[in-house]
Amino acid sequence: MHVRTLTGGLAAVLVMSFPLLGGQAVAAPSGDTAGPSAAARVLTYDASGAAEFRSAVDRGAAIWNESVDTVELRPAASGQRADIRVLADSGWPRALPTSLGKGTVYIGRQAVNQGYNTVRISSHELGHILGLPDRKPGPCSSLMSGSSAGTSCTNPYPNAAEREEVEGNFAGAASTGTPVPAPRAVPVPG
Ligand SMILES: [Zn+2]
Repeated sequence: MHVRTLTGGLAAVLVMSFPLLGGQAVAAPSGDTAGPSAAARVLTYDASGAAEFRSAVDRGAAIWNESVDTVELRPAASGQRADIRVLADSGWPRALPTSLGKGTVYIGRQAVNQGYNTVRISSHELGHILGLPDRKPGPCSSLMSGSSAGTSCTNPYPNAAEREEVEGNFAGAASTGTPVPAPRAVPVPG
């Protein structure tokens, strides 16, 4: 939301620098519509099975929404079939993507019990659904370094390269409806 607002503001500034488009800028509603290029592909997620991790999952989704423009994670409406299901279980956290933007995420209590941060786990696993592979071992500044950054790492934000990769994965997907290749149908541990 934060970034989308900033994007709208930036677009307004850019448009205002071109006097010919000034009237259009005034007419355009602020915030949501910065132009066709700003259309995001909307993915719904259902965290109703995430038990005690539900708010961490919501935070992880919000972090992605703050970080990228080409895709947006939205809570599924009640009874709606979600693109992404998020469940809590006793295993190690993992993601099972079925295609880009779809699949199941498990917030495993095994890692939580070892002291890993629940918001970082959530955004990391959502990162897999958004097409990112693990980058282990790696530093805390990398979201996809996952558990290799240690339990002291609480960074839930993708770095610039990770943001860019997700932006590219979904660029054009919303406007053209171009099918995207399925990254993998096998579990991604951690
Ligand atoms: Zn992982």
